[in-house]
Amino acid sequence: MKINRRIQGLVGSSTLAITARAKELLSQGKDVVNFAAGEPDFDTPADIKEAGIKAIRDGFTKYTPTIGIPQLREAIANKFQKDNGLSYKPNEIAVSCGAKHSIYNIIQVLADEGEEVIIPSPYWVSYPEMVKISGAQVKILPTSAADDFKVTPGALKAAITPRTKIFILCSPSNPAGSVYSKQELQKIADLCVANQIYVISDEIYEKLVYDQMVYSSIASLGQQIYTLTITVNGVSKAYSMTGWRIGYCGGPATIIDYVNKFQDHSTSNPTSISQMAALAALKAPESLVKKMCQEFEARRDLMLKCLDQVSQLTYVRPQGAFYVFCDISQWGLDASTVAQRILNEVNVAVIPGEGFGAPGFIRLSFTTSQERIREGVRRIGQWAQQCSVKPVLS
Ligand code: PMP
Ligand code: GLU
Repeated sequence: MKINRRIQGLVGSSTLAITARAKELLSQGKDVVNFAAGEPDFDTPADIKEAGIKAIRDGFTKYTPTIGIPQLREAIANKFQKDNGLSYKPNEIAVSCGAKHSIYNIIQVLADEGEEVIIPSPYWVSYPEMVKISGAQVKILPTSAADDFKVTPGALKAAITPRTKIFILCSPSNPAGSVYSKQELQKIADLCVANQIYVISDEIYEKLVYDQMVYSSIASLGQQIYTLTITVNGVSKAYSMTGWRIGYCGGPATIIDYVNKFQDHSTSNPTSISQMAALAALKAPESLVKKMCQEFEARRDLMLKCLDQVSQLTYVRPQGAFYVFCDISQWGLDASTVAQRILNEVNVAVIPGEGFGAPGFIRLSFTTSQERIREGVRRIGQWAQQCSVKPVLS
C-alpha cells in the first residue's frame, strides 16, 4: 500500500501510547503508579462541568462558528489582556480542539517546503511530527542541562538561516519544566525580530509555575515581536480539562483568518458543549487554579526529595509544568528499555526520552498523589539497585 510520503515517516505519540497503557493496566486492577500521564489527576471543577451539562440541557448542541463562539473569544481576549498584557481582538483569536490542534493549525498555515522550523530539544513529542506533515524542514536545536534546557541566544543565532520561518518556544516546557525569565525572552525576541522569524509560543503550562516565578509572554515584549508571535494556550492543564479538547491562539488577523479556513475544511468548530465549559473555566476565580498549582508544587518538592535517593540519577529542578526529566544515562540502558522494564517489573509507568529527542532520559509526571509519588520513586530506586545499575565505563 502506498501511503502519503509525508505521513509514512510519522512516529506515534509515545506520551499518549504509554499513558493509555498505564490507564488500561489500572482499569484491570493492577497496582500501577502512573508517572506517565501528561494531565492533571484532579477532576474538572464542578462549576465547569455544570456549564457543560447546562449547554446540553439548553440544546446548545449544534455547529458554532468554526473558530469559536463570540463570547468565548471575548473571554479569551480578556484573559490575554489581564494575565499576559496582550491586546488581541476577538478576530485575532481562534479556538480549536485543544492547544495541540491550535499548534498544528498554525504550523500548517505558516510552514512551507523549503523553510525551516527551529525546535529546541528536548521537545514535546508532537512538534517535529507536525512540521514533517507541513513539508517544512525540522531543525533541532539541542539545549543542555547546564543551561536548564533553555535555548541560549548564541545557539539560536547560530541555528538561524535565511530559510528559518518559525521558532517554537515552550515555557514552561514539556518535558523539562524549564521556565524562561523576561530577560531571557527579550534576547530571543530581539533575534526573532532582527531575522523576521515567527514565534509559536506554547503557553499551555503558564498557570503552573513554582518558586514564585513571574510568568512572561514573549509577545508582550514589544510591538515588533507581538506581530511575529502566535500565542497558544488552552484549558487542558490549568483547569484539568484534557478530555474536553479546547485550546486557543492569538495572533495576527491574517494568520487567524487562514486558521479559520483550514479548520473549516478539517474539524469545523470545537465541540459546542466544551466551548461553554471553557467559558466557565475562564470566568472561574483565580483561587481555583492557585489551589491546584500549590498542590503540584508540593508534589514536585516531594518527588525531587525522593529522587535524590535514587542512585546515578540526576535532574534539572523544574520550575513549571508537572514533569521531572531525569538523566539516567549512567544506568547503561537505553530509556525505552528502562521504561519498559520498570513498567513490567515494578509497575511504574514513565515516558522514555527518545520521543523527546533525549535518549538518556525518562520523564516522570507528578500528577498523582504524594503517597503514590513516594511509592513510585521507591520502586524505581529499588529496581535500579536490584539491576545493579552500573556507571557506564568510558
Ligand atoms: N503543548 C504542550 C507542551 C503539551 O504538553 C501539550 C499536552 N497536552 C499540549 C501542548 C496540548 O494540550 P491540549 O491539546 O490538551 O490542549
Ligand atoms: N502533552 C501531554 C504529554 O506530554 C499529553 C499527551 C500528549 O498530548 O502528548 O504527556
